[in-house]
Amino acid sequence: MATQLVYTPVKEIPGIVASLRKTFNTGLTKDVEFRKQQLRQLLLFMDEKKEALTEALYADLHKHKMESNVGEISSIVDECQYMIKNLNRLTKAVATTKRFKMNALDKTIIRKEAKGVVLVIGAWNYPVNLLLMPVVGAIAAGNCVALKPSEVSANTAAVITQYLPNYLDKRAFAFVNGGVEETTVTLEQRFDHIFYTGNGVVGKIVMKAAANHLTPVTLELGGKSPAIVAPDADFDVTANRLVWGKFFNNGQTCVAPDYVLVTKDQQEKLIVAIRKTLLKYYTSNPQKCESYGRIVSTRQFDRLKGLLDHYDDSQIAVGGNVDRDDLYIEPTVLKSISYKDEHVMQQEIFGPILPIVPVDNMEQAIQIINVRDQPLAMYIFAKSPAIYNNILDKTNSGGVVVNDTLMHLQELSLPFGGVGASGMGSYHGEKSFDTFVHERSTMIKSTDFESVLAARYPPYNDDKDTM
Ligand code: NAD
Repeated sequence: MATQLVYTPVKEIPGIVASLRKTFNTGLTKDVEFRKQQLRQLLLFMDEKKEALTEALYADLHKHKMESNVGEISSIVDECQYMIKNLNRLTKAVATTKRFKMNALDKTIIRKEAKGVVLVIGAWNYPVNLLLMPVVGAIAAGNCVALKPSEVSANTAAVITQYLPNYLDKRAFAFVNGGVEETTVTLEQRFDHIFYTGNGVVGKIVMKAAANHLTPVTLELGGKSPAIVAPDADFDVTANRLVWGKFFNNGQTCVAPDYVLVTKDQQEKLIVAIRKTLLKYYTSNPQKCESYGRIVSTRQFDRLKGLLDHYDDSQIAVGGNVDRDDLYIEPTVLKSISYKDEHVMQQEIFGPILPIVPVDNMEQAIQIINVRDQPLAMYIFAKSPAIYNNILDKTNSGGVVVNDTLMHLQELSLPFGGVGASGMGSYHGEKSFDTFVHERSTMIKSTDFESVLAARYPPYNDDKDTM
């Protein structure tokens, strides 16, 4: 196991950022071959330190190595490989062709310029993925990067901070570690882009700090992502995919289904299917099952336990047991929950508790979704395109999957991000590259045909042709 996470002395932070800016100004990171080489180094890090990362993720979140591989390691590997393969195309300036007549003989191009020095702030629930995924885009786009791992997942932060600098060019990529104090001082520095993943309360703090320098931000936030189960859904397949997406990483996934909307007459059928699936995935004693994770901290545990305390057997359809010493919360399903419920329907749950909200019909499900903030994700389980298209047409969310959960995250051809309270901006694949570049409009004028262009010069008179 790696050494303990060491917080960056606050007084060193301005110097770290200044040093990155100095490097950026040399043009080092703009060189496309340099970018590819750094991405290859990041791949090497993922390969050589896979075991250390997997161990740290287990120590922080009891993540099974399968979940670490799927949710953390392979995503970074795929993104790196995508960028290396596509970098020549992505970095190429794009010529525009349909020009205004006065510029018809000139060259107009959009150059893909690196933004400069960018800050990436990661969150604890996927501490490798959420920190390094944006970094891949930032490197590909030619930036220098300050990396701020989440201090909550301290083991993973320590491993990344200990080893990654041996792989990447230290002049261009630097770490700031710590909590609120260190992040606050970091946010006082001037960056050219800030990429933040975490909760919306801190998202506002980040955006306010960025405003002081007019720095653009990407905010990857959370919210209550609904799952709608239509009457014509395949209930067995639905249960398999819903339970997988909900209890993956112990429910601590920003796009986990937060609550389920199903018609009143089908609630019981869904519970039966979910119970069967839970037994199949995590046995009759999930606490002993290696595939089942844990809550990250006692703080988060107490918050979740506090939610559960409001319900008794009349509403706990499955689970409900907890063990504080082990940070264990049994996979729990709550039934007959009102959409106005004062506890589980107020905040994002972010743990292994799944409320089921019965509705009269799909139109009521749509109304319930639409009175809330726009969610980060939405899942619709329905066979009939008429049913799922109607729901798609009448709602909005960062992303949506029909007949599955989470899978849109792994699809690099789809941008990933929120809308409204669930965030702004997006990334993954080409979108990551776009996020970290400035599209610089560039016009290269010919010095010929001056007499034709002279019409625009003063003194103006009515005889001159207008442009
Ligand atoms: P967290 O506690 O790890 O915080 C995120 C980062 O913010 C950390 O690096 C932390 O140091 C920093 N931070 C915390 N308080 C701060 C403050 N006062 N000032 C400045 N910086 C501060 O993670 P979290 O916020 O608990 O993450 C969980 C939330 O993030 C959930 O709402 C979840 O849905 C959301 N999330 C979103 C995504 C996404 O991709 N959209 C991914 C994961 C998590």
